[in-house]
Amino acid sequence: MSTTDNSQVDAGDPPDEAAATTQRDTVEEDREESVELDVLDVFWLAGEGCDGCSISVLGATNPGIEDLLSGSVPHLPTLDLHHPVLAFEWGDDYMEVLQEAANGERDPYAVVVEGSVPNERLIAGDSAEDGYWIALGEDEDGNPMRMVDWLDRLAPGAVVTIAIGTCATWGGVPAAKGNATDAMGTMDYLGRDYRSVLGLPVVNVPGCAPVGDNFVETVAHLLLYAQDIGPLPELDELGRPKWLFGETVHRNCERGSYYEEGVFAEEYGSEKCLVELGCWGPVVKCNMPSRRNLDGVGGCMNVGGKCIGCTMPGFPDKFTPYFKRPPGTLISSSGSKLLGSVVRRLRQITIENQDREVRWDESPGLEERAYQWLLKRGSNYDTGRGADRGPKGEAD
Ligand code: SF4
Repeated sequence: MSTTDNSQVDAGDPPDEAAATTQRDTVEEDREESVELDVLDVFWLAGEGCDGCSISVLGATNPGIEDLLSGSVPHLPTLDLHHPVLAFEWGDDYMEVLQEAANGERDPYAVVVEGSVPNERLIAGDSAEDGYWIALGEDEDGNPMRMVDWLDRLAPGAVVTIAIGTCATWGGVPAAKGNATDAMGTMDYLGRDYRSVLGLPVVNVPGCAPVGDNFVETVAHLLLYAQDIGPLPELDELGRPKWLFGETVHRNCERGSYYEEGVFAEEYGSEKCLVELGCWGPVVKCNMPSRRNLDGVGGCMNVGGKCIGCTMPGFPDKFTPYFKRPPGTLISSSGSKLLGSVVRRLRQITIENQDREVRWDESPGLEERAYQWLLKRGSNYDTGRGADRGPKGEAD
């Protein structure tokens, strides 16, 4: 796969489900032998982003990044992370390792892309001499090396290329309307036909910022597969781990029962369903409500926020303005209100019936029986219950 073939936009119709199935069938055939992995170099390339994905990964716990770096997870290799901010080495030492990998002298390795990929050809020029959007280090002549140069050189030899966060997967905020750099996702940049050494397309773990555990868990699955210890992780037609992004937010939202009963929040701070305030959860693929944000804590709806669709390819343009009700909800929430008003009443009757111990209905106690007997006799006994009960007037 040449640099020229790879680079700059293979954007067209998205792959469909059938393509995903075929892709899955052929990955096993395309893969090379299992990879010997004691130590795996991981080259983290930073594109146009905010570093939020790095922060998310630092907070991951299943496994923690420190467990992966120290090689303390059974059957997983020790990761040697070459991250522009977190790496131990710096300056020439940092660049030397990248150079060795690009020259085929370090093998095996994986590539992680954070941030969207700019279209350097808008400026260029075949080299960074004419200007660049994102650079990383210099070549032998002292000219800046562009991030895309490293991606072109490293991606073909990578065991796997993973795009983390919505900028790297689909383009994200840098690719929104007014996108001056023609920013795009890694899959659009490398092309739909891109395959790693394992025969995999770009693996996409979206989110703005993504759930850190979604990323490390995907890495762990891929590394088990690389060594032929685990099965091929199931990816959908867009290269997302299917077990993480196969369900909508709505299906796991703790406010779902309010939606079902047609009870909707009118302002923030309410525990009710947020759809009329603009929640996109019913159509957004994300596991945030069940996995939550960090080590089982937080998560958008869990802390009072609504879903703005940050894991989706159309984000942000197709989900703005954020604070307006999505167009489709008028029909669905009106229907839910109508049906919910009936369901709520029926449930209330049932609740009142079920909220009583059986023996309370069948065998009233002595006091209860006495009370009922007095009532039947038309006594002037006070109908109030409790300590003040007694013949009217007696207490005075
Ligand atoms: Fe669904 Fe959003 Fe309502 Fe949760 S808050 S139940 S995701 S519409």
